[in-house]
Amino acid sequence: MNSLNHFAEAKLTDLEEKHLRREIVDTHRLTNAMAVREGKKLVSFACNDYLNLAADPRIISAAEKALFDYGVGSGASRLVTGNHPLYRKLETKLANFKQTEDACVFGSGYLANLGIIPSLITKNDLIIVDELSHACILAGSHLSSSKVEKFRHNDVSHVEELLEQNRYRHKNAMVVTDGVFSMDGDLAPLPEIVSLCSTYDAWLMTDDAHGVGVLGGGKGSGFCGSKKLDIPLQMGTMSKAIGTYGGYLCASKPVIDLIRTRARTLIYSTGLPPAVIAASIAALEIIETDPSLVKKPLENAQLFTRLTNLPMAESSIVPLVLHDAIKTLSASKKLLSHGFLVTAIRPPTVPQNTSRLRFAFTAAHTPEDIERLAQLVNQDLSKE
Ligand SMILES: *Cc1c(COP(=O)(O)O)cnc(C)c1O
Repeated sequence: MNSLNHFAEAKLTDLEEKHLRREIVDTHRLTNAMAVREGKKLVSFACNDYLNLAADPRIISAAEKALFDYGVGSGASRLVTGNHPLYRKLETKLANFKQTEDACVFGSGYLANLGIIPSLITKNDLIIVDELSHACILAGSHLSSSKVEKFRHNDVSHVEELLEQNRYRHKNAMVVTDGVFSMDGDLAPLPEIVSLCSTYDAWLMTDDAHGVGVLGGGKGSGFCGSKKLDIPLQMGTMSKAIGTYGGYLCASKPVIDLIRTRARTLIYSTGLPPAVIAASIAALEIIETDPSLVKKPLENAQLFTRLTNLPMAESSIVPLVLHDAIKTLSASKKLLSHGFLVTAIRPPTVPQNTSRLRFAFTAAHTPEDIERLAQLVNQDLSKE
């Protein structure tokens, strides 16, 4: 198998030369936004557990109970015998939370997008997607074998232009966007997109991975006060603010019934461990009943952007684009030497020449942590 090893080594050397090789580092996450790496205790600004629920004792004990009641693994696909009773409870809860008729839980957010999109959109259809949408939206779109058009990031007039030019040639059309963009922290212009979708009869799906638990009083980016936008397909993940694991789609009853029958990543993949589902139920209960917790990540992000004169944070994610990959890596290293864990994000996760530090704020960060971090960022991070 020399050719195989040769292939892998040549690929790695190439990535190394471009400073794009990635490493997976052992990280012991602690409570309160702390983490231990290589023996060093750090304040982490690199985690999507925005409400610090992953280690919450209430959620751990819900998981523990399910573990003893139902065992560790679910044993089969949900369509066979993996559909333990907790699924129904979680799906009902998600549907109520998002104010839809029904919901379907998948193994992960990535699997959700890979399953949902090709179940609804096929060969003669059209998908219009924001160019900065998450990798799994693009992957799901390509799996559908439909025509895929990307629109310039958050550019509503480009969405309209693409609908105008292409819509009439296709039977069905879907517009897909992140609600909150995972590497930029900005929000999609949802009211405008909702209105275009209604004009052109296009089905809107939002991926609200980073909105739920943080925006709209915890309900996500499609909610503003008590107002709910008309988004027929609300997809998201439980692996971020909810603190657990698993993806979901909230939609009408016929859509969810169809998804349960057709989505390949649901049918051909084993159900989630019962303890994970129990944990999600407990976490959603906290999100629904503790508005002061839900407000904190955004408040913390906004304290940071005020102290650093960056554009006002719209979500819990704040990028600092340094462009160059080497510069970004050294800035991340410098922050690490001061006790802060902040990830350097490089292509292909972000477009060429837009490498950046990505700061993720959680409810547990203290004003002192944020002030110290802001002071370092205000100095030139490229100099030591
Ligand atoms: C993290 C993320 C996903 C994937 O969700 P997982 O549950 O981690 O697989 C999908 N979409 C967006 C926008 C994300 O940020």
